[in-house]
Amino acid sequence: MFLPPLSVIPQMAGEVNMCGTVCPRMFFIIPAKDIWAGFLNNMQSAWFGVTLVGLILLATLFFGRLWCSHLCPIGGATEVISKGIPKKLKLNFSFINSPAFRYGYFAVYIAGALIGIGSIACKFCSFRAIPFLFGFPFVPAYRTYLLTSMGLAGLLTIVVLGFMARGGRAYCNLLCPVGALDGIMNSISSRLGFARRIKTDSNKCNSCGRCINACMVWALRFDNAKKIKRDQLSCMSCRECEKVCPEGAITYGKAKG
Ligand code: SF4
Ligand code: SF4
Ligand code: SF4
Repeated sequence: MFLPPLSVIPQMAGEVNMCGTVCPRMFFIIPAKDIWAGFLNNMQSAWFGVTLVGLILLATLFFGRLWCSHLCPIGGATEVISKGIPKKLKLNFSFINSPAFRYGYFAVYIAGALIGIGSIACKFCSFRAIPFLFGFPFVPAYRTYLLTSMGLAGLLTIVVLGFMARGGRAYCNLLCPVGALDGIMNSISSRLGFARRIKTDSNKCNSCGRCINACMVWALRFDNAKKIKRDQLSCMSCRECEKVCPEGAITYGKAKG
């Protein structure tokens, strides 16, 4: 639903691609010299993307990760398309420790910029690959881009970590820098009384494991006592676990109380 407007936004901002004003990630790419001035300059040039990220983090502070679970057209597209892929062809990435991988890649993303190879992250950018994939029949520049090495790397990334992945969200869970920032906000603010989050009552849990199977970002696991534990750094507040729990052990509400 959001993909057509998404492909119009760059054009409204006078761009045919996602790499200028509207990019929600370019402002992280900090030059090695004059770091502070470079950062401010990046924020100014990508003002639309910076505003979007600010609003995403603000919404997460109060309500959990609504953007990632319900609004982001990029994560939504990979998730929806992955539902059409037969189960036996799906790739299961849940063996990966996602917080360690995600924040390791995030550190590389930031450090890469400081040593002058920041654009490496653009090779795996789903924010460009997905709109280009949907828009290529209409925009000749998108067709040309998708046949470059960068375009092919972006396509391969969304196919393997998106369309073919179990749950369709491995890209979100492992590589997306906006998701990485949002996960930090989700985890830190889950300790605040006013924040609303997905919660689990371990006293009601019967250890059936249905919620673990339903989670698209492998944010749930059993502890040593076989009670469910949630990782708020990865949880996207999608509420799928709440829907499948037979005991009503999972609810959405004030994080404290
Ligand atoms: S993690 Fe990134 S790509 Fe995935 S839904 Fe969130 S912002 Fe979109
Ligand atoms: S679905 Fe409910 S009862 Fe089953 S393991 Fe998860 S929290 Fe426990
Ligand atoms: S833990 Fe539940 S709410 Fe969080 S991402 Fe997994 S299924 Fe969605």
